[in-house]
Amino acid sequence: MQNAAFAANGVDAVYELRPIESSEIESFFAEARSPEFLGFGVTAPYKQLAMRHLDVIEPGASAIGAVNNGVRQDDGALIGFNTDASGFLSAVEAMGKSAAGRPAVVVGAGGAARAVVWALLDAGAESVFVSNRTIERARDLAESLSSHGEIVPGPLTGPEMARAMGSASIAVNATTVGMTTDGLAFDVRPLGEDALVFDLVYVPPDTPLVRAATARGLAVCNGLEMLIRQGEIAFERWTGIGSTADIMRDALYEWDPQLRPEEN
Ligand code: NAP
Repeated sequence: MQNAAFAANGVDAVYELRPIESSEIESFFAEARSPEFLGFGVTAPYKQLAMRHLDVIEPGASAIGAVNNGVRQDDGALIGFNTDASGFLSAVEAMGKSAAGRPAVVVGAGGAARAVVWALLDAGAESVFVSNRTIERARDLAESLSSHGEIVPGPLTGPEMARAMGSASIAVNATTVGMTTDGLAFDVRPLGEDALVFDLVYVPPDTPLVRAATARGLAVCNGLEMLIRQGEIAFERWTGIGSTADIMRDALYEWDPQLRPEEN
């Protein structure tokens, strides 16, 4: 999708996939400082480790504790930032929804959940209930982001979770459930009728959660729009060119027709 945006905007650049070992990280970031680089993207498992090799880490990324993109300055300095959080919020906005002034629920306590919880609080959510299979990880997340707002850790099921769901404006699946396993990430029945169900998973695009929320008539967004929006934000930081989401979406649909909603 990045290459489609480069081509459509006449930018002479290529987005290249580099599988690297952890021993190669230092040399990778040394190379990324050279003039032919606009910037870089980094994904699991290097979103934390990358931070040690950068000159500046923007406040959002530093609060989240992970960098997923960066831009090279003219002097070769590398600035790291996190577009998962801003991409998530941009996708929520594109659905005509807002997190402001209402509680939210996030299921999961890994790297993506951290970005989403931070984003929800940044967007003015009243509180975030973080439920996770391993409750200690939910407690750790709540503690480490506590200066940004009210975060309540809890289990995946039970009355506390049902209460939190009942008042949530947005309920997010930030686990791998639906991608690596075919289960339902959470029960959508306790949600109010105006709630948005946001599944970070995008392969497959129609997870059991997406199907259950759609069957209940709720607003639903899968992870594809967040993937596109975070890519659009990074692209703008590298090139100064915005509004590439439509080009990126079309490129993804062309790459895998199954991702197109009407194909499901
Ligand atoms: P991660 O750090 O490995 O965290 C995985 C989370 O899933 C943990 O909370 C884990 O719970 C939970 N989990 C795994 N298997 C489970 C199960 N069987 N039942 C209940 N919970 C389970 O992964 P991540 O990087 O945060 O990514 C999470 C998801 O977000 C992935 O599907 C990823 O593809 C997606 N994502 C999407 C975007 C996007 O742009 N759309 C961006 C980033 C990530 P425990 O703590 O108990 O192990």
